[in-house]
Amino acid sequence: MEFQTLENISPVIDQIFEAQQKQAVKMRNSSASHRKALLNKMLDWIKTNKEDIRRAVYADFKKPYPEIDISEIFVVTSEIKYTIKHLDEWMRIKKVGTPMTMLGSNAYIQYEPKGTALIIAPWNYPFNLALGPLVSALAAGCTAIIKPSEMTPHTSALIRRLVEETYDQSQVAVFEGEVDVAQKLLTKPFDHIFFTGSPGVGKIIMKAAAEHLSSVTLELGGKSPAVVDAKADIQDAAEKIIYGKFVNCGQTCIAPDYVLVHIAVKDALLEALKNAIHKMYDPADKGVEKSKDYARIVNLKHLKRIKHLLADAEIKGAQIFFGGYVSEEDNFFEPTILTGLSEEMEIMQEEIFGPILPIITYANMEEAIRYINLKPKPLALYGFSKDQYIINRLFTETSSGGAVANDCVLHFLHHELPFGGVNNSGIGKAHGHHGFLAFSNEKAVLKQRIGLTASKPLFPPYGIAGKKII
Ligand code: NAD
Repeated sequence: MEFQTLENISPVIDQIFEAQQKQAVKMRNSSASHRKALLNKMLDWIKTNKEDIRRAVYADFKKPYPEIDISEIFVVTSEIKYTIKHLDEWMRIKKVGTPMTMLGSNAYIQYEPKGTALIIAPWNYPFNLALGPLVSALAAGCTAIIKPSEMTPHTSALIRRLVEETYDQSQVAVFEGEVDVAQKLLTKPFDHIFFTGSPGVGKIIMKAAAEHLSSVTLELGGKSPAVVDAKADIQDAAEKIIYGKFVNCGQTCIAPDYVLVHIAVKDALLEALKNAIHKMYDPADKGVEKSKDYARIVNLKHLKRIKHLLADAEIKGAQIFFGGYVSEEDNFFEPTILTGLSEEMEIMQEEIFGPILPIITYANMEEAIRYINLKPKPLALYGFSKDQYIINRLFTETSSGGAVANDCVLHFLHHELPFGGVNNSGIGKAHGHHGFLAFSNEKAVLKQRIGLTASKPLFPPYGIAGKKII
């Protein structure tokens, strides 16, 4: 399959967008069973081509197969199954009560598809983050064009194959290619744009969407803190933080970006973090580089970006407590733990999106909360403590897209929870019912009886004898 460039696909984008606009009108009244059939087709393709999916994602950045199975394949198949199970209920009109002034009428909310959807996906979970939103788009009755990331070409080509073998182009289409392809797509008046990526590009997407007043879901990133209180179970916290941070080699939007630890348990935590790295990635003591369970940085450009963050921090006084080894030959970046950080370091200002874990101390909860509140609102916040009062304070005195007590990254897998950020970390929510709502217009329907209206007394002419205006 040839790689798509703007030059050879620009006219095709115009044609397919037009075809999808027509199809979107037909889909407006589509039944739940029709939409479920579309979803089942995707499920069948995934089941049949599981090995190809594994090979494609692995080829892009050596993501270990067990991680691909859970964080790419299972996440999508379970989303499809959950959606199919609940779709009738979600699509059903929702009756609302009748106020006194409207007696005689009846009213309900009808969930109609927004229409044409554009899904722009990142590279870090390239299969899951392109197809997860597609599940919601199809469930809501939308058509969709997917622009996967150019950084993971094997997975992007596979997604295109999935779509071409499964759907008519008027229903779902994929355009690979560079940023210019995304920019061309953004000139089209889509009814909804679902973007997953960085806050910087999110702003560009929102500006483009404003041109057509397309609605947006922006799934962005940021610096998600993990707070380890003096009353935490240190061993348990360390293992969960290490898993959340180093799964996918730190390239996870909801990875704990940095740790805020109570000064009293700093040394114990550092030791436990080091032990957890050994236990998970180097049990035979041969070095993490030999581990089959540790992914690689997606490309040299990103490896150099993360190397620069480390070098900048070291120059400005940070110390490497663990790790620091990098091999440009195969984009290997050792799990790295840093101490002695300060705010002027770039690593404390931008999302790391790589396997470096800065450890900062605090003396009391007020200080930790103040620190978090001084930064843009994160996508996730993790709190580790046996003390529910501490956890509740942390979760109610800060703002974040999601909050998890005594675990990391797990909320992504919970179908009943809305997934997304707040302000700088995102706008709108995804997953399950929330994903269905993102692609639906909640239409307000009021059915009045002929000859009856509560507003009759308000009709003009105003102010004549006997008519009293409120
Ligand atoms: P990115 O913003 O660089 O790119 C994402 C997509 O946008 C790609 O398909 C790319 O081609 C396109 N794009 C890039 N520049 C563009 C432009 N100028 N105009 C139009 N389209 C453009 O993000 P990335 O590097 O692929 O992913 C990493 C970021 O994504 C991190 O910030 C991470 O936190 C975030 N992320 C968020 C979630 C979430 O669910 N909230 C999930 C994964 C990643």
